[in-house]
Amino acid sequence: MIDTHMHADSRSSEDFEKMYLAGIDTAITCSYYPYKIENESILLNHLNRILEYDTKRGREYGLDLKVALGIHPTNTISNPQIIYENLYKWIENEEIVAIGEIGLENLTDSEINTFKKQLDIADETNSKVIIHTPRKNKKEVLEEILKILPQHLDESQAVIDHINPDVVDYAMNTDCMLGLTVQPQKMEKEDAIYILDEYGFDKFLLNSDISNKPSDPLSVPKTIRELHKLGYSQENIEKISHENAQNFFNI
Ligand SMILES: [Zn+2]
Repeated sequence: MIDTHMHADSRSSEDFEKMYLAGIDTAITCSYYPYKIENESILLNHLNRILEYDTKRGREYGLDLKVALGIHPTNTISNPQIIYENLYKWIENEEIVAIGEIGLENLTDSEINTFKKQLDIADETNSKVIIHTPRKNKKEVLEEILKILPQHLDESQAVIDHINPDVVDYAMNTDCMLGLTVQPQKMEKEDAIYILDEYGFDKFLLNSDISNKPSDPLSVPKTIRELHKLGYSQENIEKISHENAQNFFNI
């Protein structure tokens, strides 16, 4: 199984062990710093920590942590240049599988500029992007993302994450992959299964988004086991359990 979006830096080794024992081989750990960042060197330190330290912690418990780095919309800083320079380096060295998570949260000018710039870097380097959508004003922000995205990057290089039953219709007619986050206070596994049943398994990736917020490190295996229990085909279950993620991220 692949958990396509999590935040290893805010989770314990015990979580990694539980995930591995429940059948998760690989997880993608993304950038997000849960406290305000004053300057670029703090953000760079956060990103290097994920790349160098958390991957090592994961490996000690069997978990293969792939990395997505970038500037999360709530971590927008005034001098992002050094982060952009490092993104080119990480992509060149194949140290990251995507730029992410990036996106929009409050629709400020600096958020929008940072988002556009990172889409341009993805376009230039032929990279994948993981795009966050917020808990609040999800529909409004998603509409803005879907307006900006195709002007900067081929939609097929993007996954739009944290899609739920309220907004899935708006994202279905794009070429993007769509992330389903099963997390307490965000979306229950029953809602994810409803979406898969209604819209098919081809376009979706599954994740826990475990972070400093209320989280369930086993939400991906629980959803997969529920699909088994409900009698969905092995072919469809394999797509959502790992095949779609392997194909999209080339992992
Ligand atoms: Zn996240």
